[in-house]
Amino acid sequence: MASYVRRPALFANASEADWSDWHWQQQNRIRTLEELSQIIVLSAGEREAFTQSSERFRVAITPHYAALMQADNARCPLRLQAVPQPGELVTYPFEMRDPLAEESHMPVAGITHRYPDRVLFYVSHNCPMYCRHCTRKRKVSDPTTAAARAQLEAGLAYIRNTPTVRDVLISGGDPLTLSDERLGYLLRELRAIEHVEVLRVGTRNPVTLPQRVTPELCAVLHQARPVYLHTHFNHPNELSPESITALAMLLDAGCVLGNQMVLLRGVNDDAELVLRLNRALLSHGCRPYYMLQCDMAEGITHFRTPLNTGLAIMDHLRGRIGGMGVPDFVVDLPGGGGKIELVPEYVSDRRPGEHGEIVTFRNWAGECFEFVDVDASNTD
Ligand SMILES: *Cc1c(COP(=O)(O)O)cnc(C)c1O
Ligand code: SF4
Repeated sequence: MASYVRRPALFANASEADWSDWHWQQQNRIRTLEELSQIIVLSAGEREAFTQSSERFRVAITPHYAALMQADNARCPLRLQAVPQPGELVTYPFEMRDPLAEESHMPVAGITHRYPDRVLFYVSHNCPMYCRHCTRKRKVSDPTTAAARAQLEAGLAYIRNTPTVRDVLISGGDPLTLSDERLGYLLRELRAIEHVEVLRVGTRNPVTLPQRVTPELCAVLHQARPVYLHTHFNHPNELSPESITALAMLLDAGCVLGNQMVLLRGVNDDAELVLRLNRALLSHGCRPYYMLQCDMAEGITHFRTPLNTGLAIMDHLRGRIGGMGVPDFVVDLPGGGGKIELVPEYVSDRRPGEHGEIVTFRNWAGECFEFVDVDASNTD
């Protein structure tokens, strides 16, 4: 499957078998400035940012993802997600290490229980690629904080003993960093809990390491079906043939696919681009689930767009793509307030009428329509 415009010369000697082997991809990740400079033309600012940021948040890029980057485009939307930019070194007083207060809502290590019916279960702190916009930089990529077996057992025990939990979102880091055996074990244990009705896996592997989706992994997922698999495509260029194959295999394994896009300045803050991405995702059986406002985590303010940008994108989507292609635009409130949804304003006027308030709505095309909102006490 030759799918890249140009495979970087650094990997010219890799065989097809190597390239499509996720272990090889994982072992040959780009981690040094030296390697990176053989793949893309780096600016002085990027060199500086790489050197300084690597102590705070490691750099790792899979050969697959690196091959999708445009070597001489400094504004390449994939490169911006993978290669530290000078903005990463700038900190603001409002930024937070743990913007969603995930650590303080932990009844046991490795579980965030914020809503009564669902928990986040962190099972790994590693990812194939470290996304520069990651909101969990504080622990992701730090091997000293990885979940040990005892911690996974404690998490399972907490879920077993907490009957309000209907929905378990296996997260990380990236849960597909676990072996098939370990992931299979977790899914089986969770499926065996009577009150757990919904299993979800949040993973960016279909984007950054699609080779990880093997028949063996699919068998594990199929056994636990239906697994709601949330992935994280941010740009149409990420939908490589390898990723498309991975999505097809996951669908065959009985997964229900959803996408959580993060809105990022310079990457995807463009309504037509999001429309294109969502159309492509839908055509491959992956429903746009959330469009997330970038959090207030440290060193990612250069990625954050004004709230109005997201609202304008939502306004553009509605009417131009079926409802299945319209995600919720969500802000995860700092301090652990949870997620709220922002919707464009469609009400343009309200005035009293004979039978109830007359509400004027504007539709997606900007046309206005009146609706009589009958008063409950006047209906009979
Ligand atoms: C996002 C999140 C969930 C899942 O929320 P949904 O809106 O159901 O997708 C659950 N727990 C925590 C702590 C979360 O941040
Ligand atoms: S895959 Fe997710 S958890 Fe891992 S670095 Fe990227 S955004 Fe963070």
